[in-house]
Amino acid sequence: MLTSSSLPLEERFPKALGKTQSTHSTMAKYKLEYLWLDGYQPVRNLRGKTQIKEFASFPKLEELPDWGFDGSSTRQAPGGSSDCVLKPVAVYPDSTRKNGVVVMCEVYKADGTAHESNDRATILDDPDTWFGYEQEYFLYQDGRPLGFPENGFPAPQGPYYTGVGYKNVGDIARQIVEEHLDICLDAGINHEGINAEVAKGQWEFQIFGKGSKKAADEMWVARYFLNRLCEKYCLDVEYHCKPLGDTDWNGSGMHCNFSTKYMRETGGEAYFLALMAQFEKNCAEHIAVYGPDNHLRLTGLHETQSIDQFSWGIADRGASIRVPHSFKKNGWKGYLEDRRPNSQGDPYAISSRVLKTIGEVPKP
Ligand code: ADP
Ligand code: MN
Ligand code: MN
Ligand code: MN
Repeated sequence: MLTSSSLPLEERFPKALGKTQSTHSTMAKYKLEYLWLDGYQPVRNLRGKTQIKEFASFPKLEELPDWGFDGSSTRQAPGGSSDCVLKPVAVYPDSTRKNGVVVMCEVYKADGTAHESNDRATILDDPDTWFGYEQEYFLYQDGRPLGFPENGFPAPQGPYYTGVGYKNVGDIARQIVEEHLDICLDAGINHEGINAEVAKGQWEFQIFGKGSKKAADEMWVARYFLNRLCEKYCLDVEYHCKPLGDTDWNGSGMHCNFSTKYMRETGGEAYFLALMAQFEKNCAEHIAVYGPDNHLRLTGLHETQSIDQFSWGIADRGASIRVPHSFKKNGWKGYLEDRRPNSQGDPYAISSRVLKTIGEVPKP
């Protein structure tokens, strides 16, 4: 029999022990930053707005309601009927904000179908596809790369890639890069690394994800954190693939490393060659979603293949697709690196296209 003295202390003396059952004391107001991609072309922009909601603990994806926005202000709807729907697809803690939450969303139309701008909805769903993206970018201030003098150029490329010291990286860039890394790690984003790049003011970070949409989601959220972080430093992130034009300064890419379960576990030379033949056949369709102005970057110089040619090569950084040494050694198994996507490319559109082409190749 349950007597009152067999109850735990806090239930027998709730007031004295400060354990009164008030649901309000455990609820907290969370700042939910709903993020989505707008309808601008050729480069979509991140958009975000905040709603405050109470939850007992950090909200799970299933607990987050759909929301809406005015699509006529984002090139996603005509003025007359402008409501678009935001459907949460991934959720991340935002350590820079008290009770901060970033909610990545897909855009839907009022009739429930995916909006034309919603490239994420076109990615084949496959938990066993892995993507790794290497995002290169410039930090820009006053219309030039951070660390460039007002007139002319700094010392030529050479010491900047993975460089250290004030004359190579300046005084503020590393602080931004490190802060960004910590914000991303706090958010649970699977950063794999960072490095200073070949041009002065140019940096890279890498994100890897298992599941066909994971790395792309995290890349967009990492871009959001970087853009927002740079606000307080009065500078911008320049994602253009060749911001310094036809000079001896490197452009920026976003190499796409990819593997399916079949590529990792079965592979084989015949399948690999069939895969490459299909990539060659679809060359134009790939370039179409690999970021604008790519002809300025894919020139055949600076570790690139020309935009209108397709090639693959083992450990070849001048090829369209680089085949890691380990791939051939392991019996043509593992991952491949498509070096053509540029820094302004949309990882949703890129992942979608890569998986479409892979899907067209029959497995022997
Ligand atoms: P590099 O600059 O030499 O091209 P990085 O280390 O910058 O090399 O990038 C390599 C990328 O390949 C990383 O993002 C990593 O996550 C990714 N990667 C490694 N293994 C796989 C795999 N099996 N499938 C997909 N991507 C992979
Ligand atoms: Mn890299
Ligand atoms: Mn790089
Ligand atoms: Mn690479």
